[in-house]
Amino acid sequence: MKLNTKFIHGGQENTDPAYGAVMPPIYQTSTYAQSTPGGHKGFEYSRTGNPTRNALEKSIASIENGKHGLVFGSGTASIDAVMKLLSPGDEVLSLNDLYGGTYRLFTKIFQNFGLNFKFIEMNNSAEVKTAITEKTKMIWVETPSNPMMNIVDIQALAKITKEKNILLVVDNTFATPYLQLPLDLGADIVTHSATKYLGGHSDVVLGALAVKDDKLAEKLYFIQNASGAIGGPMDSFLVLRGIKTLHLRMQRHCENGKAVAHFLRNHPKIDQVYWPGFEDHPNHEVAKKQMKDFGGMLSFTTKKDDLKEAVAIVEKLKIFTLAESLGGVESLAGHPASMTHASIPEEERKKTGVKNSLIRLSVGIEDEEDLIEDLKQALG
Ligand SMILES: *Cc1c(COP(=O)(O)O)cnc(C)c1O
Repeated sequence: MKLNTKFIHGGQENTDPAYGAVMPPIYQTSTYAQSTPGGHKGFEYSRTGNPTRNALEKSIASIENGKHGLVFGSGTASIDAVMKLLSPGDEVLSLNDLYGGTYRLFTKIFQNFGLNFKFIEMNNSAEVKTAITEKTKMIWVETPSNPMMNIVDIQALAKITKEKNILLVVDNTFATPYLQLPLDLGADIVTHSATKYLGGHSDVVLGALAVKDDKLAEKLYFIQNASGAIGGPMDSFLVLRGIKTLHLRMQRHCENGKAVAHFLRNHPKIDQVYWPGFEDHPNHEVAKKQMKDFGGMLSFTTKKDDLKEAVAIVEKLKIFTLAESLGGVESLAGHPASMTHASIPEEERKKTGVKNSLIRLSVGIEDEEDLIEDLKQALG
């Protein structure tokens, strides 16, 4: 199957065996009747396995070109499960502009359990190689990154991790398998906040992993069942439904993202626009090589770089909703300095590019003209 067909049919039974339902039923059950001890039909208890979650896990494996999929109660819970592959003393290398929640989980939870984290520049192979010690067990990256839309060369990193025999994990939330297939580029594990583009309708919180390797999958399934942060059947159903239109939505997100990026770049009040589709974006060539298109996420700063001005802009927006999160059909705007990154001191924040006026947009699938009109009026 090609990718777009997989979004609809990948890993799925064509009809349910009981009544021929075309969509997988929501098996809202905790347990399953047995005819004799151990005599069951593949499911015993819903923490261990549930048919609706199972259908989503097979879909995730299929669309990421993996062999195994695992579904968790949130993107964060799936990251949590991956970290439990490690032992005290192990070291993880990661990006310096990581999703805030992942950074918090690493430094405020897993550091207390004896894991060590180093945050480095991932596009410099020499720097990555020097940072690796014999304690390094994992490299963790996000690409495109949040909110600065930096791109990491997955293939270049995979070459290093294969040579050193360490795991490469890629958070594919922003790109989705429509734009980028990290397992094909050499990553060992793909993680998702399915809350975002996979679900696509801002109505569910869920997470997922995809892997190719059987042994690695076995370890992760063990952690999933033993730690228990599984996704529920209703939420699994909603994400399955979302995935069926992922390619159509992503196509429009990319078109609208491009139009909005170009509009902003030509606006007299705007200073920088961060969007990997621009030829002068520092990682444009890598983005072009590893992504099908450039996505619907972008951020920008104003020439005045004034916090009050930025707040006024996001308050004035009418079609873009001021809200956390991303990847839904509706356009959202966020102001990192006072929202997601408010707990980081101003000096630290500015080092990674999160200036006072930085505004992040998750460009939705509305009419392009309406989105541009809205930005025009808000920018005054
Ligand atoms: C939202 C997000 C997460 C966390 O996922 P939740 O579903 O909110 O727990 C992880 N990584 C990225 C890139 C995200 O955008």
